[in-house]
Formats: sequence, C-alpha cells, structure tokens
Amino acid sequence: MHMSTVAKNNHALAGRTLWVPRMSESGARFFAAVFRSIGINASATPESNEDTLELGGLHTSGEECYPNKVTIGDFLRIIHTDDFDPSKHAFFMPTANGPCRFGQYAPYLRTVLDKLGHTSVPIVSPTSENGYDGLDDHGNSMIISLWRGMVCGDILKKMLLKTRPYETLEGAADEAHEKSMQLIEAVLSQPGVPSKLRLKHLIEAMSKVRQLFHDVPACYTHNKPLIGVVGEIFCRLNDFSNYDAIRKIEAHGGECWLSDISEWVWYTNWSQKSNLRRAKKTISLDMLKAVIKNKFQRIDEDKLLAQFHDDFIGYEEPHDVYKNVLKPAWEYLPADGALGEMVLSIGKAIYLYYKGADGIIDISPFSCMNGIVTEAVYHDVSKDYDDLPIRNFYFDASSSNMDRDLDIFMELAAGYAKRKKYPRVYPSIFKGE
Ligand code: SF4
Repeated sequence: MHMSTVAKNNHALAGRTLWVPRMSESGARFFAAVFRSIGINASATPESNEDTLELGGLHTSGEECYPNKVTIGDFLRIIHTDDFDPSKHAFFMPTANGPCRFGQYAPYLRTVLDKLGHTSVPIVSPTSENGYDGLDDHGNSMIISLWRGMVCGDILKKMLLKTRPYETLEGAADEAHEKSMQLIEAVLSQPGVPSKLRLKHLIEAMSKVRQLFHDVPACYTHNKPLIGVVGEIFCRLNDFSNYDAIRKIEAHGGECWLSDISEWVWYTNWSQKSNLRRAKKTISLDMLKAVIKNKFQRIDEDKLLAQFHDDFIGYEEPHDVYKNVLKPAWEYLPADGALGEMVLSIGKAIYLYYKGADGIIDISPFSCMNGIVTEAVYHDVSKDYDDLPIRNFYFDASSSNMDRDLDIFMELAAGYAKRKKYPRVYPSIFKGE
C-alpha cells in the first residue's frame, strides 16, 4: 500500500495499529503521535531486544543490510505475539530511490509478510523520490506536523547530548529527555488542532523542554573532547544497532555531536531541486512546490529553534546543506554523482572541523557502501584538515570493532584537541576547565 492510498482511504487502516520502526526513539514516537492525530492508531515498535535479531536473522539471508534485519525483526516480534490478528496491524516503512539498498526494505518486508501468509497486512510506504511528498496527500497538516516533530526530536537529542556528559546526577539528563518526549507526543497527537495553534503549543512545550534540561544538575567544563558522529542514518541513530555507541564515547570522556535527522530532509529537498534542474524543469510547478516546501520547513524550524539560541551557541547546525555540507565535500565526493549519506558524512566532518570538533566517528553497518566509500576518502580529508582524527566503526548483529579501538581513538582526539586550529565556541553555561 502506498501512502496516498492511506491518505485517501483512512479506513484502510481502520481498526489497525500502524507500527512505526524505531530508527530513533523520538522520531518513531513523534511520527506515531502525528498519525494518531489524524485518527490512525499508531505506535512505535517496542524497544529492540535479542528476539529482534533472532527473528530478523530467520527471515534474512545475511545479504541484507543490518538495519533491515533489525526493522524486520522488530516487526516479526509483533507478528509472533500470541494473539496476533492480521486484520489489526499495519507496518510503516518509507522507501527511497537510488543506489542504496534502503529502497528494498519495503518490498522485502512485503515478501516476508506474504511468505508468512500475511498478504492482507498493509505496508505504508512514502518515498524520497519526491521529497516524501506522498505524505502530503492527507493534507498539509500531516506533513507539517511530521516535520515539526522531526525538528523537535532533533532539538531534544541535541539538548540531551550536550547535557548528559556534564550531569552530576546520573540519569538526570535521560529523565529530562524522556519527559520532554512525552510533552511533545502529547501536543502532536491532539486531534483537530489547527496548524498555527499546534505550532504555538509546540513552542510552549519546547519552553518546558528547555527548562527540564536546565534543571539537570550539571558541571559544564571545557575539557571534554567533542566527537562528531556521522554515518549511516539508521545505525548512527539507533542505539540498539550501534550497541549504545554514543554512551560508550561519553563513558570515554567525550561529548558527541550526532548528525541529526533533519539533515536528511534538507538533503532530499536539495536533491529534488537538483534533479528538477537537471531535467531542465527550473521553472515548473514541481520546482515551485519544492521551493515553497523548503521555505515553510525553514520557517517552522526557525520558530521551534528560536528559544534555544543561547543553548546552541557553538552548536549551530549547517544552515544550508549545499553550501555548508555538500560543497565542501565536493572535491572528495561530488553530490551530483555520489548519493546519500556518504556525501553528508564527508561534508559534515569538514563542517565540524571548523566548529572545533576533536574527532569524527563514522558509524556504519558492516558491508554498507556508505562506510566503505567514506573510509576510502577520510584519509585524504584528515590529511587536508590538520590530521583530524576520523575513524569508521562498523556494526552488525554480532560484533563491532568499537570496543577494541575506541580507547586509541579517544587518545588521538585528546591529542588533536591540544593542537587544533579552530577552537570550540561555548555557550555561557560553560565555566572553564
Ligand atoms: S545506507 Fe547502507 S545499511 Fe543503510 S540501507 Fe543503504 S546500504 Fe543498507
């Protein structure tokens, strides 16, 4: 089932729970909340566990991507519950065109469900081909809410990652993050709220979010290496898949700057416009729609971010994905030829060099072409940028090279911190050494 089918026939999902895969926790929970606001009973898939990998492994051959195994495994856990009724469930799985195997996830899930005899269980699947415009069919309010939810999720994660390494009460930052997610879920899931009013409610909720994080007892010092975390989107955002890589870096004394989800949306917007230009459709209705969408997304993002201005001094995300990320990466990987996360990872690494990062970690599933290509290129990037430490870490269902090599990497980052040319800029809450 394509998203537009759902959009035009909400009843296709009537009586069903729509399960949203947990790429990032806030992302899945907020997407589900938005679906609930239009009367679709949606929920994030339960947290992954050992059964995820076991069931995912039973229905994959080993050739598929690790994130595919994790998402299929999580869906199969639902199917394997004792009282599973195929008429009461549906699965959400976006798709994308291009060289990446992500485009195969939804068709593959369909094959698995069909093989298990669940031909009637729908898969809801918007596509990146048109910048996920398929979501638009339900009316602008839904795509606007999804975008706002994504922005809020990114802000929450940023607040968490800039607070947790400095907390003096263990668990306090995570607690603030959980409470924050609940606040945003409550706003996003309210049915029948006009768009402007919902934005007002979100801004009010984000003010409480800010206070929750400010209330975390913490001691902000200048001595933690800042580690940029880039790489394959699912594996870097999904703590289960990367064996809690961020916490491991924090346990080694680092602070992480994780590439967020909005980055992917800005990239697909750019890519959509670039494809239209290449098809000589610079002046076209599609281009107008793409430009307007970009503009409104930026306006909402600015409004949600405004009150975090002081918190994010020194933590500013690239304002223009082409100028700040794709262009600096061009000489290593031109974005009109190399597609997807690999260009974003290279460009973001360079962006973070100028923001005073002390090292870059690229997280990828084993056998993912993003990691394979970036690893080949990082050597030159590092050489051209003062030997900035950059390291690929790979993950699959049974192993990772992170535990073995993180000690050495963090030592390199600490060494680089002493000689780097571009120091960090800190928000006023940081007191010094
Ligand atoms: S980026 Fe890599 S792991 Fe992710 S879907 Fe594509 S090929 Fe698979």
